[in-house]
Amino acid sequence: MTQLSSPPSPVPPSDIPSALAGTAATPDASAHLEETGGDAETGRLVIVSNRVANLRSTGQAGGLAVGLAETLKERDGIWFGWNGAPDGVTGGEVQVERVGPAEQVTVPLSPKDVAGYYLGYANSVLWPLFHYRLDLVDYRPAFYESYQRVNETFARQLAPFLKDDDLIWVHDYHLIPLARCLRKAGCRQRIGFFLHIPFPPPDILVASPNHAELVEALLDYDVIGFQTQADAVNLKAYLAERSPAVQLDDTRFRVGTRTVTIDRFPIGIDAKGFAAMTREADDEVQIDLMRRQVLGRRQIIGVDRLDYSKGLPERLKAFDRLMAQHPELEKSVTYLQVAPPTREKVGAYGDIRAELEALVGAINGRLADFNWTPIRYIHRSVDRAKLAPLMRGSQVGFVTPLRDGMNLVAKEYVAAQDPADPGVLVLSRFAGAAEEMHEALLVNPYDIDEMARTLYQALTMPLAERRRRHEALLDHVMRHDARAWQEAFLAALSGATGSAARPQQAPS
Ligand code: UDP
Repeated sequence: MTQLSSPPSPVPPSDIPSALAGTAATPDASAHLEETGGDAETGRLVIVSNRVANLRSTGQAGGLAVGLAETLKERDGIWFGWNGAPDGVTGGEVQVERVGPAEQVTVPLSPKDVAGYYLGYANSVLWPLFHYRLDLVDYRPAFYESYQRVNETFARQLAPFLKDDDLIWVHDYHLIPLARCLRKAGCRQRIGFFLHIPFPPPDILVASPNHAELVEALLDYDVIGFQTQADAVNLKAYLAERSPAVQLDDTRFRVGTRTVTIDRFPIGIDAKGFAAMTREADDEVQIDLMRRQVLGRRQIIGVDRLDYSKGLPERLKAFDRLMAQHPELEKSVTYLQVAPPTREKVGAYGDIRAELEALVGAINGRLADFNWTPIRYIHRSVDRAKLAPLMRGSQVGFVTPLRDGMNLVAKEYVAAQDPADPGVLVLSRFAGAAEEMHEALLVNPYDIDEMARTLYQALTMPLAERRRRHEALLDHVMRHDARAWQEAFLAALSGATGSAARPQQAPS
């Protein structure tokens, strides 16, 4: 098999939500769960995402994937998704791999559907649209047809694996129509949906020719979960303007004879696990840290897939402005930007790479000296085990996406800090994380001057203020972790009325 048997990539494939990527529980953990048995009172958990996290891997913990995989094994469950190969046959052979009591079920896609469903509708229409980038939407009717076809095929291939009391949890924008397709196939189980990326306001959503079908399809879920209150409010505003759904209370809507819950479930990280990783810096990272300590150099760090939603050119310009306004910082501050490649087959991604590389070259060419490179730019993925100590050794976490569902890096930066001498998080107002992380220095990522000023404020912040802010942020990140997120969503889905109020549908 492709993705499943290969070693885990340090950077999550961009088609598994980063939150779900990484590695899953170890065989030891599954052995323990087999001995103790699952919880007989709850049904199995069926997770569906575009790609499947590796349930077998024993590498570094990837947070949510570990939590979800462990839950799968406790409840007995399935993780279903595309096998990741670009050259299969849509609707072709289903592969099942048993890992303890859980099953990984993967299915193939044809090159035409990889281009239409995945690169096309998901990543050239929904991704830019949901990140408020109408200018980058490349809408083609054939993309939407492929998106529908793949969702219908996935539903047909998943349906035979389902049991009556399963809880089905579908993840992300690739699979919005899946519940509708499963319903058509006769499934009456409770089905929840979690959107890992932002959900746009009605004025933006209606720019998509398929907005009505997308929202109708969403309403076939029993629970629709978003990262932020703002995202939930956007869907509610659309429903108020354009749908017969009736709002019953803050989170529940009546849709025909059914009740649909719309709520926010902000994702957390495995904060304890990430903090523990900072203690195991490898030689390379330790040498880098010592070198900077000897030279008295502080570091600003950014860690993002090279995506146009991350605001990377704006960040470079802000660093450049900081240096222009504070020449005394020359040689005493460096900016490390990790920006691994992603979705390179989509045109807009080539453009952002060219822009970024030109900017790095221009700024470094102008400012660098033989013993100081102001910007270090790494266009490769870096293992989380390296990232954690790198974040700890950086005095500023620079996280300024133009729009982001949550942004896990913001939470990881906080978890990685030394509480006695913590760094400062500079965070975009337009990252989902800003709704929770009030003690960060919040900035408008389009305002280069404000970002430059805020970087200076972060670099010169007194220890007492750094500690006060960090203590509050760390407390939040620790308490609202990956496990808490998962439990909150599954509690809402378990409590959903689900099939009880659903009229019996004949299989089509
Ligand atoms: N990441 C990584 N190696 C890299 C770059 C990023 O492991 O070289 C991880 C990072 O630590 C985080 C995730 O990828 O866990 C990115 O998640 P985020 O929510 O910040 O952004 P997304 O990629 O989902 O848009």
